[in-house]
Amino acid sequence: MENLFAPWRMEYIEKGKKDSCIFCDVLKENNDEKNLILTRSSHSFLILNKYPYNNGHLMVVANLHKKEIEEFNNEEILDIFSLLSKAIRVLKKVLSPQGFNIGINLGEVAGAGVKDHFHIHIVPRWQGDTNFMPLLSETKVISEHLRTTYNKLIPYFQ
Ligand SMILES: [Zn+2]
Repeated sequence: MENLFAPWRMEYIEKGKKDSCIFCDVLKENNDEKNLILTRSSHSFLILNKYPYNNGHLMVVANLHKKEIEEFNNEEILDIFSLLSKAIRVLKKVLSPQGFNIGINLGEVAGAGVKDHFHIHIVPRWQGDTNFMPLLSETKVISEHLRTTYNKLIPYFQ
């Protein structure tokens, strides 16, 4: 994640102090379009990161509110990684990235924003994307940008 500049993440850090879990909230809410959820599978769901490091930054989130990978059984892990694989396949087709950073941050000290609910970050990378990102530093621009990305990706999950 070196050199990517994402100033809007400060808003995320400030919002993250409330007690409820954002992943459990959107899972319960059943308003996938508003919440930028692309698809749900039996043990996980795929969602756009509202505070992205880069264009097309998605997260595979476990349905169960558990924080450690070893708390999941093999069936759940298979489902989570199948969704990860599907997400990468669609991102390659739609956004043509040249690489990916796939990240699991376990614990606050490791940089986990939502530290109590297991999730995997998928960050597409392009040559020169570190120069592109500061252009997206306004919150309004980011939310419009997220909606556009969501609309591009959603047909591949329907
Ligand atoms: Zn949760």
